Amino acid sequence: MSDQDSSGVQHYDLVIIGSGEGGKYLAWTMARQGKKAVVIERKYIGGSCPNIACLPSKNIIHSAKVASFFFRSEEFGIRKDNVQIDMRAVRDRKRKMVDGLVKIHLDNYHSSGAELLMGSARFIEARTIEVTLPDSSTRLVTGTDIVIGTGTRATLPDLPGLIEAAPLTHVEALELDHIPAHLIVLGGGYIGLELAQAMRRFGSRVTIVDHNPRLLPREDEDVSAAMQDLCREEGIEFVLEAHPTSVEGKSGEALTINLTQNGAAVALHGTDLLVATGRTPNTSNMGLEIAGVNLTDRGYIAVNERLQTTAPHIWAIGDCAGSPHFTHISYDDFRVIRDNLNGHVHVTTGRQVPFCMFTDPELARIGLNETEAKANGIPYQIMRIPMAADLRTRTLSETRGFMKALINPSSNRILGFTCFGVSAGELMGTVQVAMIAGLPYTALREAVITHPTLTEGLMVLFSSALHG
Ligand SMILES: Cc1cc2nc3c(=O)[nH]c(=O)nc-3n(C[C@H](O)[C@H](O)[C@H](O)COP(=O)(O)OP(=O)(O)OC[C@H]3O[C@@H](n4cnc5c(N)ncnc54)[C@H](O)[C@@H]3O)c2cc1C
Repeated sequence: MSDQDSSGVQHYDLVIIGSGEGGKYLAWTMARQGKKAVVIERKYIGGSCPNIACLPSKNIIHSAKVASFFFRSEEFGIRKDNVQIDMRAVRDRKRKMVDGLVKIHLDNYHSSGAELLMGSARFIEARTIEVTLPDSSTRLVTGTDIVIGTGTRATLPDLPGLIEAAPLTHVEALELDHIPAHLIVLGGGYIGLELAQAMRRFGSRVTIVDHNPRLLPREDEDVSAAMQDLCREEGIEFVLEAHPTSVEGKSGEALTINLTQNGAAVALHGTDLLVATGRTPNTSNMGLEIAGVNLTDRGYIAVNERLQTTAPHIWAIGDCAGSPHFTHISYDDFRVIRDNLNGHVHVTTGRQVPFCMFTDPELARIGLNETEAKANGIPYQIMRIPMAADLRTRTLSETRGFMKALINPSSNRILGFTCFGVSAGELMGTVQVAMIAGLPYTALREAVITHPTLTEGLMVLFSSALHG
């Protein structure tokens, strides 16, 4: 129960710092179980995903997809003239969605009985948290259990002139009310690629700058090559093996990125700059040292496989705990802590980490790819088909890409699945269920799957070994 002691500290069963995916579900669930729970959130009700990350980016990406359909409308037998992009309307559709999502969150707080306290939290004693409210007043709270779920923010590399250039991060890029004339994207990871393609489809000239020799260096080479072909065909320029040295000018007006590439100095001119070079955990200036919560050398909260920190009864959840940076993983962290709080042992070890990059087409992967299997000496059989062999793609005129699966040759179980193709993320779900069930690939090969759906293509994929 929450009650206030004589020093004005309010006590809860559960205090959660940050209302991101894991934190909010933990609060709602434990409150529904009768616990007194409070979530302290400094800005975004519901965390990054619904406000500034996954869902708004996919909303804007979908508008860009509609734009791309307009530009290729003749291919579908639809004549067009004078197509125009109205970025304010694009942004307003996204804002409307976000407003609706925030309302759903507030309803969940209301119905679950969990308290939402808007303010910024920091430890001032081992177990006492000071919350600075929007009016600058403060409240002190403590909890039987405390969960830190403060997420990450865009990393701004230490580059002379970068701060002065006032670059966009994903937060500002998703709020643009105009189309940048020439957008330079620093960083060719999934955030950079998704937004680069969307902006290109709205009409920007786009240049991606990355220090790696190829895009998506952790994926197999055929995946990287396919992504680079896509970028090239859509008119996205990329400068690889590039090492920025300084920035001059201002994003939104005119700027120059000075960089070296293969030892040569290159000056890249653009109008807008988007920085997508990685994530920094929100773990500083929070008094974590006072609480006895240790950090890793990369600044994440050090946790064990139950997500316990180095301080008793203090837990960490989601991105800030160094868990793979996905909303579905933050959600799974919630399950882990929920079960441990309820007296069970639940660990993060060995869980599946599927991901989907929402370029068009999407890139989805679960389990091993060939590079990883080879590096670990894991024997595998490979099955691979072009997306065009999945007949549904032909009805959609979306035949780009391929899917492939790695199979354990002795058990026939699926070790991994990669798809670069239309609705790859949805297709992956079916394979994931087969992997969870420990089914041999032949179960999907022999299944009766509706024609013509994209999932039917899995039958084709898993029959490919039969047909050579
Ligand atoms: C552009 C973009 C697109 C993405 N797309 C996808 C996607 O498609 N699929 C996917 O799975 N993942 C995606 N991600 C990653 C995903 O958004 C994160 O992994 C996920 O939101 C992490 O959730 P979390 O609960 O750890 O933290 P967050 O959701 O970041 O929540 C942390 C919260 O803590 C608050 N906070 C921080 N410090 C304090 C403090 N001191 N006091 C009070 N509150 C504080 C913050 O305001 C924030 O609301 C994307 C990320 C970005 C940036």
